[in-house]
Amino acid sequence: MFRLLFPPKCVLCKKFLSRQETDLCHSCRENAPVFCRPKSKIPFVAQWTALWYYKDTVKTSIHKFKFGGRRTHADAYSRLLGMKLQSSPCAEADFITWVPVSFRRRWKRGYDQASLVAYALSKELGIPCKKLLRKVRHTPPQSGIRKAAERRANVLGAYRATDLTLLRGKTILLIDDVVTTGATASECAKTLLTAGAKQVFLAAVAAAQND
Ligand SMILES: [Zn+2]
Repeated sequence: MFRLLFPPKCVLCKKFLSRQETDLCHSCRENAPVFCRPKSKIPFVAQWTALWYYKDTVKTSIHKFKFGGRRTHADAYSRLLGMKLQSSPCAEADFITWVPVSFRRRWKRGYDQASLVAYALSKELGIPCKKLLRKVRHTPPQSGIRKAAERRANVLGAYRATDLTLLRGKTILLIDDVVTTGATASECAKTLLTAGAKQVFLAAVAAAQND
């Protein structure tokens, strides 16, 4: 009945799905720009991965998720991410957390997009999801800054760990929507490690192809 009223669509190209398909249509399953492996390391991050490269239909899909109110995309992203991560070291993490947006941005948008993916992924992997980071300083969007060094400076000291007792000695899986230069994720990982975490893994929905 639910399927009749709200026929599921492909999370990338928006085509209606057949009964055999979930989250992605056949064509996107074959042709989506699947992220292979990171070319570069992100400082303070032990290991990282993403589902797709941030381009074409992936870009449109994430844009709708972030700015167009498509919260339900989080379920599809996390199911696909869950499948990708289930046999990786990320699946052994003690907690899942996410790169938070500032209060101001959250208030404007109505939700913290990475937290939706983190909570949904928590169910997929059976790892508890906790808010372990807080954004303490509103920063101009990273997307408007090109140089890597300037992006790092923009987020320097922008995050605080929320629960030092919980973090101590733990492995954390950090979730973000898009990894571009990794500056934001790196700052978050540094904050978690400084607060006592043992190691930080990172998983994103998408990553820039030039990583
Ligand atoms: Zn599709």
